[in-house]
Amino acid sequence: MANPSLLILAGDGIGPEVMEQVKRVIDWFGAKRDLRFDVSEDLVGGSAYDAHGTPLHDETMAKALAADAVLLGAVGGPKYDALDFSVKPERGLLRLRKEMDLFSNLRPAQCFDALADFSSLKKDIVAGLDIVIVRELTSGVYFGEPRGIFEEGNERVGINTQRYTEGEIDRVARSAFELARRRSGKVCSMEKANVMESGILWREVVQKVRDTDYPDIELSHMYADNGAMQLVRAPKQFDVILTDNLFGDILSDCAAMLTGSLGMLPSASLGAPRGDGPPRALYEPVHGSAPDITGQGKANPIACILSFAMALRYSFDQGDEATRLEQAIEAVLADGARTADLMGADGGQPISTTQMGDAILTALDNSL
Ligand code: NAD
Repeated sequence: MANPSLLILAGDGIGPEVMEQVKRVIDWFGAKRDLRFDVSEDLVGGSAYDAHGTPLHDETMAKALAADAVLLGAVGGPKYDALDFSVKPERGLLRLRKEMDLFSNLRPAQCFDALADFSSLKKDIVAGLDIVIVRELTSGVYFGEPRGIFEEGNERVGINTQRYTEGEIDRVARSAFELARRRSGKVCSMEKANVMESGILWREVVQKVRDTDYPDIELSHMYADNGAMQLVRAPKQFDVILTDNLFGDILSDCAAMLTGSLGMLPSASLGAPRGDGPPRALYEPVHGSAPDITGQGKANPIACILSFAMALRYSFDQGDEATRLEQAIEAVLADGARTADLMGADGGQPISTTQMGDAILTALDNSL
């Protein structure tokens, strides 16, 4: 059988630096776990613009559509700030998300014990935290029509429209339930059904999908404002949180910061299932291209490596190997290894991007 295919788009700034460490991890799984991928690499963002005059070449788009999974580093940088909007690096990423129809955005908030002091919350509230927010990504108020700024009488009015079809809610609910089946089987859906019709429809459809096809899932509903409060009060009560585009944008940033540093946060964006195969999927760290530290060997590669762990779990059905990788990272952090972004006020000597990669490979060796 052919190996599963993985397209790597390292992008700009620290993207290629952190991706270098992911490639070493991929090689490790090939050599030590006989887990091999057909890896190809291409350009996205500013680097694609420099080579082709476009932030995403059509050929790259076709490769992404054909791949079992895409792993992206980061795009953007000051060099490209003056470019026309249509060819800005971010347009490459937006095109990938749109044409791959990635409607389900997974943002885990996982707190490694060794970093619990980094959270702005008390250690016992966040230590051991492991939740995932599933955010609908391609509809809702960011896309609904009518939208715009209009003249009304003698003043202007700004309009955006929250709009969800049953089909859009149905498919993202399924994505959350499938995810929950690989975890604790618990989903909390968040909307504002008390004041929004789209929230009433959201709640009805999510409940129906659960009752019809996922009776094994324990589903609860919560108003999103209460959800925000509960996330800060007692985040460990949740496992999978399902929510719309707008609330998901806010709640996932809030949840992410429970865990500390931007250099630690992975994400996945998933599309519809393709026959028996995995859904289209794009895995990427939450952080950007970090121009302020590019080329200095300071970037933390963990967010990108954790994004590959998500690919192992959600695209390649290798949950045990994903756990092995996450535990290797946990061990390295417990040992005190820190890139500059993870240094506490008490000082110490930070290690470089490559040294963090070295430490993770050693911990993987120790896991055998
Ligand atoms: P950023 O995430 O690049 O950086 C914010 C801060 O966090 C910086 O101080 C940076 O040094 C630090 N940081 C980020 N990732 C880190 C890592 N892995 N290790 C250590 N420190 C890390 O956000 P920004 O500065 O607002 O944006 C910079 C560029 O990245 C812009 O061009 C922006 O458009 C782009 N961007 C891209 C994406 C993406 O590719 N998905 C996301 C956000 C921003």
